[in-house]
Amino acid sequence: MSCLFCRIINGEIPSKKAFENENIYAFYDIAPQAPVHILVIPKMHIESVDGITSENSRIVAEIFENVPKIAKEAGIENGYRVISNCGDDACQSVHHLHFHILGGAQLSDKMA
Ligand code: AMP
Repeated sequence: MSCLFCRIINGEIPSKKAFENENIYAFYDIAPQAPVHILVIPKMHIESVDGITSENSRIVAEIFENVPKIAKEAGIENGYRVISNCGDDACQSVHHLHFHILGGAQLSDKMA
């Protein structure tokens, strides 16, 4: 299996877990861009936001249903940003759908 995040889900590559249930895994980014930087991913392989369909979109709702809890349990108290990079112009580097949760400090008012 070549997908990095699928290998993390399977435990082949170590990660620092922030949250897990049957369908979702959340873990700390290896190169944090904020004091708290967590990635939330579906356990099913979806390439990116472009791969979300009416058949699999329930997992996206489930991710967002859990984001506030993940942020709170990670100690984020004063707001956070959720980002998903999709495709080359957005610099998506891992082609398994993921949502960055960034927080723990005042973030830039610029998003790009
Ligand atoms: P993106 O650039 O939006 O595709 O985000 C991919 C993210 O995965 C980057 O923020 C990387 O730092 C992060 N990343 C890459 N490899 C690992 C890893 N082994 N463990 C945790 N985070 C990783």
